Amino acid sequence: SRLSVAIDGPAGAGKSTVARQVAKRLGLTYVDTGAMYRAITWKALQNRIDLAEEGSLAQLVRETRIRLKTGRRGMEVWVDGMLVSEAIRAPAVTSNVSAVAGQPEVRRVLVEKQQELAREGGVVMDGRDIGTRVLPEAEIKVFLTASIEERARRRYHEWVRRGYSIDMEDLKKEISMRDEKDKNREHSPLRPAEDAVHLDTTGLSVEEVVSSILELCRT
Ligand code: C5P
Repeated sequence: SRLSVAIDGPAGAGKSTVARQVAKRLGLTYVDTGAMYRAITWKALQNRIDLAEEGSLAQLVRETRIRLKTGRRGMEVWVDGMLVSEAIRAPAVTSNVSAVAGQPEVRRVLVEKQQELAREGGVVMDGRDIGTRVLPEAEIKVFLTASIEERARRRYHEWVRRGYSIDMEDLKKEISMRDEKDKNREHSPLRPAEDAVHLDTTGLSVEEVVSSILELCRT
């Protein structure tokens, strides 16, 4: 099917978990656009590029090959032939990604790539500007939110599962700061599309959220 499902929302609202499940159930391709901004940020840090310098970032994004693959062990992110699925989740990437994502040329190149992926077939795409900018014609648009406490708690459990210890208050600060930057940037800021269905996932299970979205896709 050619269905496009756009899922936007702030950090930690559960977008990727839910989007992956919805894609699987509908037999569509899952596209994690945050992973693409993270991939560019990771490479820029690796190459010690000055993130405030638009020119070098612009060149970097144009010469980088990003591939998203759904493997047996979840989603794989490849940059220039290197597997970086874990590396792009590092704290250094997370704290710098909003600055990179604020650069217009970075967005232009990645948005074009995202639109190309959607032209190849049906997608469930998650991010910040999918309903407003990347796929304004998407049949289904969802804006996921959750309380800051709930979002921090989810991130906390993710880190613990991966074997790290992390301070809950620091996490809350990190998430709020990133949201502020994403909401206040000049180009395609984080905001719901006018025709998006808002879904507060606080206290809901993954399955409950997935069912609600599948229900929207049926009607
Ligand atoms: O979803 P995730 O937390 O991996 O996204 C990382 C960052 O990438 C966001 O904080 C935001 O700055 C940027 N992003 C964006 N537009 C998107 C997806 C992510 O600007 N469509």
